[in-house]
Amino acid sequence: MAVDAMCSPLGPPACEKDAKALQFIEEMTRNADTVQEKVLGEILGRNAETEYLKLYNLDGATDRDSFKSKIPMVTYEDLQPIIQRIANGDKSPILSSQPISEFLTSSGTSAGERKLMPTIREELDRRQLLYSLLMPVMNLYMPGLDQGKGLYFLFVKSETKTPGGLMARPVLTSYYKSDHFKTRAFDPYNVYTSPNEAILCPDSFQSMYSQMLCGLYEREQVLRLGAIFASGLLRAIRFLQLNWHELAHDIRTGKLNAKISDSDIRRCMARVLRPDHQLADFIESECSKDNWERIITRIWPNTKYLEVIVTGAMAQYIPTLDYYSGGLPKVCTMYASSECYFGLNLNPMSKPSEVSYTIMPNMGYFEFLPHDPNSTSPNSATSDKLVDLVNVEVGKEYELVITTYAGLCRYRVGDILRVTGFHNSAPQFHFVRRKNVLLSIDSDKTDEAELQSAVDNASKLLNEFNTSVVEYTSYADTKTIPGHYVIYWELLVKDSANFPKDDLLEKCCLAMEESMNSVYRQGRVECNSIGPLEIRVVKNGTFEELMDYAISRGASINQYKVPRCVNFTPIMELLDSRVLSSHFSQSLPHWTPERRR
Ligand code: AMP
Repeated sequence: MAVDAMCSPLGPPACEKDAKALQFIEEMTRNADTVQEKVLGEILGRNAETEYLKLYNLDGATDRDSFKSKIPMVTYEDLQPIIQRIANGDKSPILSSQPISEFLTSSGTSAGERKLMPTIREELDRRQLLYSLLMPVMNLYMPGLDQGKGLYFLFVKSETKTPGGLMARPVLTSYYKSDHFKTRAFDPYNVYTSPNEAILCPDSFQSMYSQMLCGLYEREQVLRLGAIFASGLLRAIRFLQLNWHELAHDIRTGKLNAKISDSDIRRCMARVLRPDHQLADFIESECSKDNWERIITRIWPNTKYLEVIVTGAMAQYIPTLDYYSGGLPKVCTMYASSECYFGLNLNPMSKPSEVSYTIMPNMGYFEFLPHDPNSTSPNSATSDKLVDLVNVEVGKEYELVITTYAGLCRYRVGDILRVTGFHNSAPQFHFVRRKNVLLSIDSDKTDEAELQSAVDNASKLLNEFNTSVVEYTSYADTKTIPGHYVIYWELLVKDSANFPKDDLLEKCCLAMEESMNSVYRQGRVECNSIGPLEIRVVKNGTFEELMDYAISRGASINQYKVPRCVNFTPIMELLDSRVLSSHFSQSLPHWTPERRR
């Protein structure tokens, strides 16, 4: 059939393969409720004999009403004992009738450690299916992507084994190492400059170096630049700032830097490297300029857009991305997690602030807990309040609750979403925020309790100097690359002759980092995605001024609480104008790939 004849309501597809994908999106979203009912039936049917569903006396029922009346809504902490049993090697059908193939390590943490999400082999196909829908949608808005390549900075992270021998690794590491990715069929609309060998190298320096080198050689062909998160793309720019001399040298000589020792990379780079004086001159002349504004479009002049997640916490990077790219469009294609891939952005050229994700009803069973930002009662969250996918209301906020093929049942993801509209009968959601996250630079998520205990631990070092921290607040500083946490401290120094010295406050910085969760410490040590923590000591009385300011803007004096994280410019200016001294962590906190009890 001619492609035009297959025109989708979303627009004319670029090729027949795209037409099929767009048709699939139409079918799923038109029949969202039927698909959801079918998905739930399948999940409950195949898992009928699992320990978990039996515990709640589902008795093999697969209908919505039985499910809703019998199965409770849960958090990770509720499931942790079960998950630990699976991790320890219990192979009986606990959550899923299908064998748990591995654990995906979420960037969300519980008791300071990454959450372990059980998954089954077929989930890879489901993830692959969602990936296969992204370019057909993109091609509707950006023609000609088959005429060039994508420079995507993609990385694998370290893997560990649970005591029972199951692999535990991030979902993207699992995907890049799978045959789905490694032996993907050639698709002219989806050609990367980075060879698999470079993406799969566990050493982040070698991986980034070789991906950057390939991107420089193919600078004219690059039509789109990306990374998973905005922070990752900025790290690549920083890497170029630090390493362009060596990269240009390799290009000039056609010889690979000796620091790249990975034999797979060396073998594949031998096919890429060739002496190119003109290119080396160009890189040197652009990179040696003091001004790096629009460096992306200077080096990769045919780039049409950046593909990075800039929704949620990543929105903080938009001004810096705009600076380096001259305001190129920023495309957020999908919304996903280790637990389940949720959906995609059907209007990828929309402004970041207007991005909405359409949840695909075939990916899992989705329910929504109405979210009242003003409610303080934890008991108000009961499963009888859960709303089905097609019944959410435009303008309202909900917390996402999922039931997956791998056996999570009515599991609270912790994401707060606002309904912006519908595509057919499938709702579209704006990602509002992740619950309880105070600070985030990359995939780290630090909550208020973690920050409090880090401050408590660090301030113990001050005791012997008769000094205490009377107030504190924090800020995710993304002006540096990588970004870093800034903690403002107001100190009570009882013996002014004994004011804490620089080295003591540096130790306090490290003590705070040691107290942070493992995702933070991994970001510091393995990924280099988070810079050294900074303590800024402010003058006495600064926090009182902060309160006065809040009250002058209408806050109630009785209810005023010191904000534990700030990002409002006038407040930042006030704090920064009162800084007496600033101190950085001088070493790395401990981190080893986690060993699972
Ligand atoms: P992880 O469990 O480490 O895979 O992280 C998944 C979480 O990342 C989600 O639950 C969201 O909080 C966040 N996330 C994923 N995709 C997006 C997106 N497109 N926009 C904003 N946040 C996202």
